[in-house]
Amino acid sequence: MLTRKTTGIDDIIDGYIALEKELQKLIHQVIGPFCSNCRGECCKAEICKESTESAFLEILIKKQQIQYDNRSGWLGASGCRLEFGRPLVCYEFFCEDVVKNAIFKASPIQAIITDFVSIGKNAHGNTHLICVQNLDCLSSRKIEKIDDNIRLNFHALKRIKKRGIVLIPRFKH
Ligand code: SF4
Ligand code: SF4
Repeated sequence: MLTRKTTGIDDIIDGYIALEKELQKLIHQVIGPFCSNCRGECCKAEICKESTESAFLEILIKKQQIQYDNRSGWLGASGCRLEFGRPLVCYEFFCEDVVKNAIFKASPIQAIITDFVSIGKNAHGNTHLICVQNLDCLSSRKIEKIDDNIRLNFHALKRIKKRGIVLIPRFKH
């Protein structure tokens, strides 16, 4: 995992997926118990839709062979049906109940997410990777930079997991 040199967008897909899955595991560890009674109250179909408007996320979604629902987006009975390829705002947003929790504030989760969101920053001019319409216009230098960011984030997550992370106690609505 994460040992090759990049030439095109296809070369970073596996690394991005592996990283997003690791990030989700960590978020689940930290706020999963907190959100467990809620099952995605903060999820909205218009947010889900952002994933269908991104050329990069579309590649990730196609790999999962799931159907987008015009009414509920990706939200299913047990939460988000997207294993990976979620819009970045899905990672950036935490409701007030979560944010005001002292343990959440003390955890490194927001810094980790900021780094994850920054992976595709300025992929083409000022445009973030998620918003680039034509992925063929990305230079191999930029793709390698994104690949480097993925590797750095991946190793940072592994280090954090090894150290252990403080969990937020179960939250009752
Ligand atoms: S972040 Fe807040 S609103 Fe969203 S699922 Fe968790 S507890 Fe519910
Ligand atoms: S993509 Fe998934 S996490 Fe994001 S708003 Fe939709 S259901 Fe929620």
